[in-house]
Amino acid sequence: MAPVRGVGMESHAVRARMVERLAAEGIADARVLGAMGSVDRHGFVDSALVNQAYEDTSLPIGLGQTISKPSVVARMVELLLAGTPQGRLGRVLEVGTGCGYQAAVLAQVASEVYSIERLRGLHEKARANLRPLRLANVHLLFGDGMQGFAKGAPYAGIIAAAGGDAVPAAWIEQLAIGGRIVAPTSMAGGRQVLVVLEKTPRELRQTVLETVQFVPLKSGIA
Ligand code: SAH
Repeated sequence: MAPVRGVGMESHAVRARMVERLAAEGIADARVLGAMGSVDRHGFVDSALVNQAYEDTSLPIGLGQTISKPSVVARMVELLLAGTPQGRLGRVLEVGTGCGYQAAVLAQVASEVYSIERLRGLHEKARANLRPLRLANVHLLFGDGMQGFAKGAPYAGIIAAAGGDAVPAAWIEQLAIGGRIVAPTSMAGGRQVLVVLEKTPRELRQTVLETVQFVPLKSGIA
């Protein structure tokens, strides 16, 4: 891991405490706990926020966007892996790279991570944040993730860090049989919930989970 601003030697211990908290709150998949324990979250936030990096809060990352709280990242990655055998998941598409933190976590549990961001400023910030980690299996893309990324398909998993009114058709098309989509989605009335879609040979199985609060999924680039 790269030398980082301000947290220093104790960051390993601080991460270990965060992992203990996640386990106490019900995250059980050792792959997820291992990944959360191995990525320096403080390397992804502004220096002024470094002392909050391991608290369970979302934090601003610029351009009106936020990095999700660690408990939400862990929960969503665990849902993405659920039902898959031990070992790595195959190719994963992340929609909404933001600062790149979740992409770094996904890189620990998936063989390849394609992560797409629609705001050029954040795409570049993620590139800079991830460079020192030298994660050869992370591929950062600039574009509208509502179209997915056909060149990387089919995906074993698709995870969205922004919430829309429905799961875009392109994601369902680009999902492998046996794969899963985990995406915040607005229900009638505007409440945003976590939705899991599983693609079986015969159907698309939908599970609606807890209420969440994500930034909106938007079309186009900026
Ligand atoms: N996973 C990120 C969280 C970023 S917040 C992290 O770890 O930091 C969600 C991101 O989704 C924002 O950066 C926002 O710009 C992006 N986003 C919203 N709609 C998008 C779209 N259609 N395609 C790609 N990115 C999108």
